[in-house]
Parts: sequence; C-alpha cells; structure tokens
Amino acid sequence: MNAQTLQKKLSDLPLERLRYFESVGSTNDEALAWAASGAPDLSLVIADEQTSGRGRLNRKWFTPKGTALAFSLILRSPAPALLPRTVGLAALSIADSLLVHQLAARIKWPNDVLVNGRKAGGVLIETVWSGTEIDSLVIGMGINVQRDSVPPAEDLQFPATSLEEELGRALDREEFLHDVLSAFIARRPQLGTDAFMKDWEDLLAFRGERVQIRVNESETHTGELLGIDSRGALRLRNEHGNVVTAQVGDVSLRPAA
Ligand code: ADP
Repeated sequence: MNAQTLQKKLSDLPLERLRYFESVGSTNDEALAWAASGAPDLSLVIADEQTSGRGRLNRKWFTPKGTALAFSLILRSPAPALLPRTVGLAALSIADSLLVHQLAARIKWPNDVLVNGRKAGGVLIETVWSGTEIDSLVIGMGINVQRDSVPPAEDLQFPATSLEEELGRALDREEFLHDVLSAFIARRPQLGTDAFMKDWEDLLAFRGERVQIRVNESETHTGELLGIDSRGALRLRNEHGNVVTAQVGDVSLRPAA
C-alpha cells in the first residue's frame, strides 16, 4: 500500500483529498486536526499502521503494520438530526462490502462488525465543534484484513477475527477499502430514510437474545434485544417486561451470562 496505488485504486470515487501515512498515531487524530483546519467534505486519512489507534472510551485499537485497514473519512456539516445514525452507516458499509465476498456480517450495536460472531472491524466517530454547532464528523474505521491484524486473545474482551481467516483466502486491502468507501458514499443520501433504518436493524447481532448494556460502573440494563428506534437507540425488554432504550454513546453491549 502506498499513496500512488491508493490514488489509483480510489480514482473513481468522489473523494476530495487523500492523506496517506506509512505509520501514524491515530488516523482519527490526523483527520480531526485536518477537519479543524478546513479539510473539505469526503477527505480521507489512511495509514498502513497505527501506533496508538483508539476504540471508544480510550480503549486501544490494534493496527499492526501492513495487515489491516485503518482510515478516517471527514464529513462536513452533517445534519444534526441524523448524527446518531452515522455509526450505522459506517458499519453497514463494511457489511455491504463483506456480502460481495459471501460473508454475512452482523453489527454489534453500536459500532462493531462481527463475522461469524467475532469482531472483524470497528467504527469510532468523533466530532469537530465550532462553538455549539457540529462543524464536521470524523468517521474512523478499523478492519482486520490479514490474520496478523488480530490482537492476542489476552488483550481482548470480545473474540476477534480477520477477513482472510473467515474467507480462507487472500483479500486485497486497497480493493476492500474501495468497496467500503463506495458503499458509504452510495448509502449516505439514504441516511434519513426508513429503509436505511431497516437495513441497519436487520443486521443487528443478538436480536431476540438476552444482552447486557453497560452504561457506566453503576448502571447496566439486561434484557432481550428488540431492535433500534429511529434515532439508532437500542431497544431492550427488561426483566419487568418494560421496553427501555440505550442511546448511541459510550455504552458497551455483551451477551448476558
Ligand atoms: P467494544 O465496543 O467492544 O466495547 P471498542 O469498540 O471500544 O470495544 O473497541 C476497543 C476494544 O476492542 C479493545 O478494548 C480491545 O479489546 C478490542 N480490540 C482492539 N483492537 C482490535 C482489533 N484489531 N480487532 C478486534 N478487537 C480489537
């Protein structure tokens, strides 16, 4: 992977600008700084390695050199009402691209992409503010392509896998990147539609199963996962038979013991 081959592979997409790094701390950090200094809509930061990649809640996201996809897309002036849906848009774009390879992905709400029940990719969305308005969004995606991109089991709270492991064959990283970006751009205009929400809900992992949502140290909800509402909040039926919702935010979802 290098800047030239990437430019060529992505040349049919309406990407405004591209910055490639052989190694970077975090593509989201680069993209946040770039967005703050005026990067246009659909600018892309991509790295062959992240040395301090982040998950949510400042958890670490592993991106060993030459094995994975780590990139961040900048969206300018997002419609505030649709913000909570953007994480679904990113996860669905990865799922769309996996379907091309006959892999049925599921979305572990809100931000993880599972293949055969194991985590193969994640999404981290961060915001650039201008006063009280959202100026731009940075959509970070990390995808485990080769087997060596999977962190050691002792570093994981949830099992992980790679696309090549699931496919049993090699996968061209640049081509897969192209497919994910292309799916994202194609789906973006549908963000406000019911059809989009249905596509997202149809792919939810653990639907109909008992899960636990951990909001913080002292607040957890356990119940049957029913679906998502129009804002992308997760709907659960708790032990008392009441429907409760959890907003897209820094909450963690696990299958209930
Ligand atoms: P979750 O949504 O599962 O709570 P995050 O989305 O915040 O987790 O992702 C960070 C977590 O993902 C880390 O704590 C680590 O356990 C796990 N992780 C880190 N890198 C990878 C990777 N390349 N593939 C799969 N899982 C990873």
